[in-house]
Amino acid sequence: VLRATGIHKSFGDREVLKGVDVSLAAHEVVALIGASGSGKSTLLRCLGLLEPIDDGQIFLGDEDISDPRVDGNRVRARLGAVFQSFNLFPHLSVLDNVTLASRVVHRVPRREAETRARELLARVGLADKAKDHPDRLSGGQQQRVAIARAIATDPEVLLLDEITSALDPELVGEVLELVRDLASEGATILMATHEMAFARDVADHVVFLDAGTIVEQGPPSEVLRHPREERTRAFLARFT
Ligand code: ATP
Ligand code: MG
Repeated sequence: VLRATGIHKSFGDREVLKGVDVSLAAHEVVALIGASGSGKSTLLRCLGLLEPIDDGQIFLGDEDISDPRVDGNRVRARLGAVFQSFNLFPHLSVLDNVTLASRVVHRVPRREAETRARELLARVGLADKAKDHPDRLSGGQQQRVAIARAIATDPEVLLLDEITSALDPELVGEVLELVRDLASEGATILMATHEMAFARDVADHVVFLDAGTIVEQGPPSEVLRHPREERTRAFLARFT
């Protein structure tokens, strides 16, 4: 579904991605792990066309979305993204947050968008919060709304960037549980995460990024349990 090759990205003279290749098959869950500053967020932002790349190619389905002639808005409408900070629109109700992209970008009629949004809110356990504003919700609830918003447009790929790292520990579980459900229902997910236990349980494939380079990748049973590379071992040792 998504395939990137030779991604290079610099900020000024600092090279943050040094030729990264990643790919995601349909229904696959890929966990991106690595130390702070290794380039995880930058990679997700590049893949989501939220940041221009300096070199490389990105294919979404058969389409080369890194071609400068592609319409970025049209491509972004095929993806769903959730970030560490919930960035819901504070002046809009929960319901309006979830329906906005469907109505404005995909031109779904309001009634239809709202019916679907209410279904999604029910499934993320927030049916009773539709009319509330985001600031009335806990961090975990806000993040569940952000996920409902991201999946409201049936994205081909979900890009999740450390979506639990800003949450109080007791709220992490409810958000991870939701991601686990989406994965088991067949969503295609690329997620940067520091939750190693979650990556081990849910991911099909783990990619370890270090200083802008993929050092090691493979199934969690190999990368997380029996890493081959010294750098991977050193990184994982911090979590035990
Ligand atoms: P974390 O685990 O802390 O989220 P990360 O792996 O997501 O880290 P990135 O946010 O991708 O790391 O950052 C990689 C490097 O790129 C860092 O050195 C960061 O300072 C730099 N960087 C990221 N965004 C920008 C930007 N917009 N301008 C300049 N430098 C940036
Ligand atoms: Mg990051």
